[in-house]
Amino acid sequence: MDETALLRTIRPVWIQRITLSLAKGAGMRDDIRMQLERFFDLLEQMVDTGDPSWLDSILYTWSSSLTQTDLEGKQSNLTQFLREIMLQTHQICRDMLDNAQAMDLLTALVPGFAYAFEKAANFEMEARVAHTAEQLKQAQLDLERLDQSKSNFIAVAAHELKTPLTLIEGYTAMLQEVRAKNGITLVETEFLEGIDTGARRLQAIIDDMIDVSLIDTNLMQLHFQPVWINRILNILQTELETATKERSQIFEVKEFPGSADMTFCDPERLMQVLRNVLTNAIKYTPDGGKISIDGRKLPGFIEIIIHDTGIGIAPEDQSIIFEKFTRLGSTALHSSGKTKYKGGGPGLGLHIAKGIIEAHGGAIWVESPGYDEKEFPGSTFHILMPLLTAPPETHMARLLTPLLSTKPYEEKAL
Ligand code: ADP
Repeated sequence: MDETALLRTIRPVWIQRITLSLAKGAGMRDDIRMQLERFFDLLEQMVDTGDPSWLDSILYTWSSSLTQTDLEGKQSNLTQFLREIMLQTHQICRDMLDNAQAMDLLTALVPGFAYAFEKAANFEMEARVAHTAEQLKQAQLDLERLDQSKSNFIAVAAHELKTPLTLIEGYTAMLQEVRAKNGITLVETEFLEGIDTGARRLQAIIDDMIDVSLIDTNLMQLHFQPVWINRILNILQTELETATKERSQIFEVKEFPGSADMTFCDPERLMQVLRNVLTNAIKYTPDGGKISIDGRKLPGFIEIIIHDTGIGIAPEDQSIIFEKFTRLGSTALHSSGKTKYKGGGPGLGLHIAKGIIEAHGGAIWVESPGYDEKEFPGSTFHILMPLLTAPPETHMARLLTPLLSTKPYEEKAL
């Protein structure tokens, strides 16, 4: 008897036994029986032709019907399924055929089973990869949705807080006026100043939240004007003098190639960036430390380099500090004053700085040997600003070009 005939001999028992061993409940039996009949048909074709690729179609069907649990689990159900079929086939051959026949049939079937295992593993791997890619896509969508709702929350909260804050500020100012006319006591002055300081700090946080939502929605508008970096740095040096004196810190601004060149950018926004980076430098540097500003001119860019002798930043944190709401473990939880040593903030300053610089077509990054509150390795922030001889928008260029030749704005511009 040839192998095809031997196969036909065992077919009814094969179908019966394997159906019983694979189907867990009576409800599944019909379905499994049909599947096994199809498998057996293909097995016959394979033995007939010697071509195991006859099994492809059913293996593909089985691998694509793998469930979510199969794909997430390590143990493959499909491989177990094939293993059970192979073991049962071996047993059935031994039970129903004599030794020589069983050997002949099993020899004819071995390449088919080997092929089935390999093919099933491939199909299953493809299904797993597709499933993981789908999961990643879903996770990405979830993250985007989360980020969107975070941005929406910031925008709504900031605008909702603005109205009551305006009321507090207005009534405080009125009260100050009334009391000034009627004679104000020292305690009253102190209380009013307290309300005023609190309201100002709240105002600054709300402004930051609004800036974050402008950055996140790509709606930040820049007002390009002629700017000299050295003038901006000198203004900030004066502005931060009280804080650096309070903290006994040396604040050094160097003249560097490019710092006296005129460039176009939004001066208010650049000041905001430098103020954020510099107040951080003051905050994260101990009393008596040093903050120095240097820079250089590169083809098409001016680089501003701000170095401090503070606590430094660990390499793994150097990119995440530019994400919104990031405060490293070394930072106090509550805001305790803008320039107090390690005083906390909402964690928005560097995110805003990055948004502003990138809106200008520049870049900002930090370098630090690491974080150490005993050795103070320091941090160096680099700000790369495009060196522009004209504002980027053509309509603004047209407006400003006649002014540029007569330089009447030079006194006003920064
Ligand atoms: P914050 O309002 O907390 O200052 P930022 O976005 O300005 O928010 O900074 C994010 C975090 O980056 C800070 O909480 C601090 O942990 C870290 N950081 C920023 N600048 C420095 C610096 N010069 N030295 C050490 N750590 C810094």
